[in-house]
Amino acid sequence: MAAPRTITRTCIACRREADKRELVRIVRGSDGETHVDPTGKASGRGASLCPDLACFEAAVNRKRLAPALRATLGEEDVERLRREFEAALENNRATISRHGR
Ligand SMILES: [Zn+2]
Repeated sequence: MAAPRTITRTCIACRREADKRELVRIVRGSDGETHVDPTGKASGRGASLCPDLACFEAAVNRKRLAPALRATLGEEDVERLRREFEAALENNRATISRHGR
């Protein structure tokens, strides 16, 4: 009998636990490239963040993002990830408003 499963992840910035679908995942793929993973399905070393730019900034400022991904992130990588993160937030909002409330 399969109980409904909720997979929780912890935000690397504020340590809040949430359903993994609520969090934004950043992944470092086998090619070593880091990306925001909107599907949550990309393989590789991942880190989860609240859908909040404040948590992205906190993770960067507290130097938690790169170790979580076991990656080296330069300024330009952080800039690119920030843009991808913001785009993911826009998509989240669009999804939420589509479902109404
Ligand atoms: Zn957070």
